[in-house]
Amino acid sequence: MITRLSELFLRTLRDDPADAEVPSHKLLVRAGYVRRIAPGIYSWLPLGLRVLREVERVVREEMDAMGAQEILLPSLLPRDAYETSNRWTEYGPDLFRLKDRRGNDYLLGPTHEEMFTLTVKAEYNSYKDFPVTLYQVQNKYRDEQRPRAGILRGREFLMKDSYSYDLTDEGLAASYQAHRDTYERILQRLNIKYVIVAATSGAMGGSASEEFLAESPIGEDTYVRCLESGYAANVEAVTTPAPEAIPFDGLPDASVHETPGATTIDTVVAWANTASLGRTITAADTLKTLVVKTRVPGGEWELLGVGIPGDRELDEKRLEAALEPAEFVMITEGDFTKNPFLVKGYMGPKALLENGVRYLVDPRVVDGTSWITGADEDGKHVVGLVAGRDFTPDGTIEAAEVRDGDPSPDGAGPLVAARGIEVGHVFQLGRKYTDVFELDVLGENGKPVRPTMGSYGIGVSRLVAVIAEQMHDEKGLCWPAEVAPADVHVVIANKDETARAGAEELAAALDKARVRVILDDRKSSPGVKFKDSELLGIPQVVVVGRGWAEGNVELRDRFTGEAREVPAAEALETVLAAIRG
Ligand code: ATP
Ligand code: MG
Repeated sequence: MITRLSELFLRTLRDDPADAEVPSHKLLVRAGYVRRIAPGIYSWLPLGLRVLREVERVVREEMDAMGAQEILLPSLLPRDAYETSNRWTEYGPDLFRLKDRRGNDYLLGPTHEEMFTLTVKAEYNSYKDFPVTLYQVQNKYRDEQRPRAGILRGREFLMKDSYSYDLTDEGLAASYQAHRDTYERILQRLNIKYVIVAATSGAMGGSASEEFLAESPIGEDTYVRCLESGYAANVEAVTTPAPEAIPFDGLPDASVHETPGATTIDTVVAWANTASLGRTITAADTLKTLVVKTRVPGGEWELLGVGIPGDRELDEKRLEAALEPAEFVMITEGDFTKNPFLVKGYMGPKALLENGVRYLVDPRVVDGTSWITGADEDGKHVVGLVAGRDFTPDGTIEAAEVRDGDPSPDGAGPLVAARGIEVGHVFQLGRKYTDVFELDVLGENGKPVRPTMGSYGIGVSRLVAVIAEQMHDEKGLCWPAEVAPADVHVVIANKDETARAGAEELAAALDKARVRVILDDRKSSPGVKFKDSELLGIPQVVVVGRGWAEGNVELRDRFTGEAREVPAAEALETVLAAIRG
């Protein structure tokens, strides 16, 4: 196919869009691949749509190769099934809800565990039918709180979601492994640098779960790795190794001290080091008390106290993951007024526990650890408040930040942190949905058996942004051959009629060899054309320019930046070799 830039529905932009912060977003808009319609909602223009379709093709080929069968369910779904699973409520404000003309509730599907389970239930009824894995490639809808970076986090986005149904736990483990291998093949074909990390299972529920994160400094996920053991986890899934409890005997009694104006960890530490406590105090000796409001879906807001060592920040994403499906918000001035026992700047565990506020602590706050913390009175702190002796928390919570150098949960060494973009997620759901919908089939021995389920998602449209993010330079995009919107970009950069005819001839010959060609046959200047060829990022560029007079064309590799002159007569062979090499 020859795509003529003189005819292509394409406008490239010289300037970055005002709302774009990350390179992939800027470049995909500037190169005319996507256009914004509303926050998190984008249109795909011809070249962008080609890339999207190529990624989709790779995903589909690999899913088919693993034996999954493609079906297509609606995006517009009635409320009932999601009511049965309780996700109509549990999914919270991310769910797009709407009503039909009769006033019935509908939703736009964010993920389809319910509908696949009902579909399998409607068709299959015997052990002989299993295992089965079904998938679809479909637009998903989530009213994301923070749509971001163009198509990277959309409110409408294309996902491949699949669901496996097995009769045994071993079967589920095998289906899970097959998906994991398939996802590895997909990401390798797309040239993406990725890591597989342990994950929490989020709103889907379930147990074993891993995420595929594309390595990227602009990623919203932080993961840690232990280089000694190979342990790797999203920080949301990191469990803090709890130290041994310390015997209480000999620990000094708690004492209350005047600490006027010491309302931050820094000022408390500064005060403590002038208070002759007999040792040097650091932030790690203080216990920070944070109070948030949480709400289980459909429930009321409730206060929750969180105690973490003062040398660590609260990690909101970890707290969110720990509380899921409940949501949380920080408390406001109004909450202090309504709850006078919350003394701003001087909060401690005692007032919370005495007033029936649930209080959870970091796993490092084990029995026998002694803390400097708020005394719940204006201008006062307490020193030597011992966990298990002077206060008993309601449990532990993983809400403190995980840091570079923290010990790996497997005890093998220190953790190293980096950032990534979640591109895929695999998990073993178990029987959560088959229980809810009572999916039972006839077992081999005549008794009913209940299948166990896995659920797997890969972000097709997000992958386009991720490829752009990992593969670009300051001049533009650099598509890997597997998903590029064309194989060769032929630039006519010479006004001479024979040069133009030569370029047309080369394009026709390439087309005949089933190469997808973009031909820049516009009247624009060579400078504009070169800039556009760099921006668009087709892997191979052929310039029919000044060298034509000597019988040469220039071949440029967009990926390596290498350029070389070749005789025009050999151009076809050389380009074919470069593409197929
Ligand atoms: P995230 O943590 O980034 O919101 P998620 O945990 O909600 O992702 P899943 O529900 O597991 O994601 O969805 C499967 C895949 O769909 C993700 O791995 C990601 O590639 C893609 N995806 C999820 N949300 C979006 C979105 N808003 N825009 C584009 N792709 C998305
Ligand atoms: Mg999400």
